Amino acid sequence: MSPSPFAEALDALRRPLEFAAADDFARLPRLRGFGASVRAAAERAERLAIPPEARSRMRRVASWFPDGADVSGIREAVQRALAELAPLSAPDFADSALGLPLTTLPGVGPRRAETFAKRELRCIADLLFLLPSRYDDRRSLVAVGALEVGRRATFVARVLVADFTASRGRGRMQRAFLAVAGDETGSVNLKWFHGGEPMRERLRKGALLLVTGDVRRYRFSKELLHPEIEVLEEAPAVGQEGAGAPRDAAAAPSVDRLRRIVPVYSSVEGVPPRTLRRLVDAAVATSADVVEGFLPERLVRERRLPAVATALREVHEPAQDAELEPYLRRRSPAHERLVLEELFLLQLGLEARRIGRAREPGIALPRGANRVRAAASGLPFRLTAAQERVVREIDDDLAQPHPMHRLLQGDVGSGKTAVAFLAAVRAAANACQTALLAPTELLAEQHERTLQRLAASGGGATALRIAVLTASLSRAQSQTVRSALAAGEIDLVVGTHALLSEEVRFSRLALAVVDEQHRFGVAQRQALLARDAEGRAPHLLVMTATPIPRTLALTLYGDLDVSVIDELPPGRSPITTDVLRAGEGRRVLDLLRQTLARGEQACVVYPLVEESEKSDLRAATESAGKIAAALPGKRVDLVHGRVGAGERAAAMARFERGETDVLVSTSVIEVGVDVPNATLMIVEHAERFGLAQLHQLRGRVGRGARPGTCLLMARGSTEESEARLRALVETTDGFAIADADLRIRGPGEFLGTRQSGRIPNLRLADLLRDADLVAVARRAAAETLRTDPGLQGTPRLARAVERRFGDRLALAGVG
Ligand code: ADP
Ligand code: MG
Repeated sequence: MSPSPFAEALDALRRPLEFAAADDFARLPRLRGFGASVRAAAERAERLAIPPEARSRMRRVASWFPDGADVSGIREAVQRALAELAPLSAPDFADSALGLPLTTLPGVGPRRAETFAKRELRCIADLLFLLPSRYDDRRSLVAVGALEVGRRATFVARVLVADFTASRGRGRMQRAFLAVAGDETGSVNLKWFHGGEPMRERLRKGALLLVTGDVRRYRFSKELLHPEIEVLEEAPAVGQEGAGAPRDAAAAPSVDRLRRIVPVYSSVEGVPPRTLRRLVDAAVATSADVVEGFLPERLVRERRLPAVATALREVHEPAQDAELEPYLRRRSPAHERLVLEELFLLQLGLEARRIGRAREPGIALPRGANRVRAAASGLPFRLTAAQERVVREIDDDLAQPHPMHRLLQGDVGSGKTAVAFLAAVRAAANACQTALLAPTELLAEQHERTLQRLAASGGGATALRIAVLTASLSRAQSQTVRSALAAGEIDLVVGTHALLSEEVRFSRLALAVVDEQHRFGVAQRQALLARDAEGRAPHLLVMTATPIPRTLALTLYGDLDVSVIDELPPGRSPITTDVLRAGEGRRVLDLLRQTLARGEQACVVYPLVEESEKSDLRAATESAGKIAAALPGKRVDLVHGRVGAGERAAAMARFERGETDVLVSTSVIEVGVDVPNATLMIVEHAERFGLAQLHQLRGRVGRGARPGTCLLMARGSTEESEARLRALVETTDGFAIADADLRIRGPGEFLGTRQSGRIPNLRLADLLRDADLVAVARRAAAETLRTDPGLQGTPRLARAVERRFGDRLALAGVG
């Protein structure tokens, strides 16, 4: 941790004052030059970038220590000064200074504040930490004659003529303000379609300008549309036109001072860039020196990072001789310091909660019985080494009298269900229950079938009493399941949201498994994790088949322990992926025919999005009819969300038993087919699916001994959808695909709105660009907590984490 420059200056001022006041001013008469040194310390503090109120306090304190004051005068001054400084030493002084509303800045009224609020800019800190989106290099000036079309440039030119005119804009003639400006090498047009009125005043003939903007061609001349202007010299007064020398050149900024790197902030509607810059500058000038740093000193030294206050000044105004490139990449040392400060607090919060939760009361499920081992050997297959490792990790957690919070990542088909099954056996062996939460009814039903198969495979050891609970059950059926659950007659219940209903009571729930967790809202999970009468929370296992790139996982699930199944069961065959365009329908039919001729099965998947639900259903239905017509003698089934649960389960079962050849469905089966004999997957309107979804769909084929094929039918495309399809063709590695997805869509989109409750609102860090810094912050946080797990030793740090990420962490804490 490093105190703010202001905190240090204040300390340097208070210490001598307190020393002098001690023991009823006993030492005061003997202190030499005391008044002068206090005055100097106050003046030093006054010069810092601090709020006006703090500055005036410093000025007052300095004024109370004139030269030649007598001891009694100084004594009184010391007392007044200590009282004057007390509010500045309050623990929340910096927070409240940084939290001041923007209306405290000159030029920001309620209206403008509202405009800013729309962009989440509400207080001084918001402006202070608003990173420039890019920088304009205005250090090198171009001659007007050398301006190049298509380039951004900065140049000095004098206004030759300026007036309103008619010009073509947006395809029609419009009133525009046009100034022709030039130097000895040539001239260029500057044009405004809006905001021309104020320009008329500033751009009178003869004014000398510094102009920055993008040069374009308009008819036969070069022009800049809405360029940025600084007036270097006012135009000569009317009547003196052409008289030459400007009236008051001294008042205008010199070209040299303006030759600098200028930050460009992403625009706030209705706020001119120059105004925005001025306000950010004001925020820096009134608060940069009250910001404290939290990074461990060792890390700051190792990475040679600037102090926070310095970093803030530098990102907003890079030094004249700075190398621009790192700034453009947002990876200058100044950026790095600020980003690491943010990530460090976040990782501290996540890691602290992980540690804290590991101490909460939970339900220990000791290994005890041999049943678990017997169950593992009773499975219809041998666990892969990765599965075994993960089972051990989970076992260790379950044995603890503290709730497990574990994320299980594993690619599609890696065998997560078997791992969850063994955990459920473990709970059952301890007379406890397990709930498995699935995102869709189909998936719940699919899970239930798979789990029943596993339960039936190994005799007594695996024999779990399993039930399914979804909204499709009749009232009577669900009543039966609920009473069996409450009576402890069910070991493992699989269900959808219906499981979360108030009416569901467990007799002894010890393990909650959440599959495909990214679809669940955070609050929904809370219901499952309710504590029992003794205040103990069940263990939580979150399973996801959507591989999450490591940096994101660290940020999103930093408070969970992570297990990874990084190996597929043996005997899987490679999958060929192809993208087909409109007009290649023949090839599709040929492939279908060949596949079925080999006795294999195929799936055809249609997207189902709410806006076009009807037409999607119609398309799927028509397609099923067409395929049936084209393949006489073959059995084609159609499944979608509108089909009742019973009928749907029957259709899925028929497909699993090989009684149907082709299964046409809407994306509801997304993660629900597990049929080794299915070798062809045709995805219609592939461009409408997300990358992760496509990867999941593709994972449904090639599960048996025979190679699989996935045909992605692109019916339209955008640059983004093309990138997605290309990524799929290029790799089948789930993690590579997740990385591509993250890159294509960016972190926010990647996570989707449903997960927004878990996205910590990062102000500075970009999880993609700053991936390496996430890891650095993580290590630093772990190290800090190793010596001080609850941050009791550094309450300021604990408070900073709470203030910055408290609400997000509270949400994340649910699961
Ligand atoms: P996912 O991780 O996608 O949930 P599943 O648990 O559905 O994967 O497993 C996919 C298929 O692989 C299932 O049919 C399952 O029975 C089978 N399976 C799981 N583990 C193994 C294994 N170790 N050896 C062979 N097959 C396995
Ligand atoms: Mg699964």
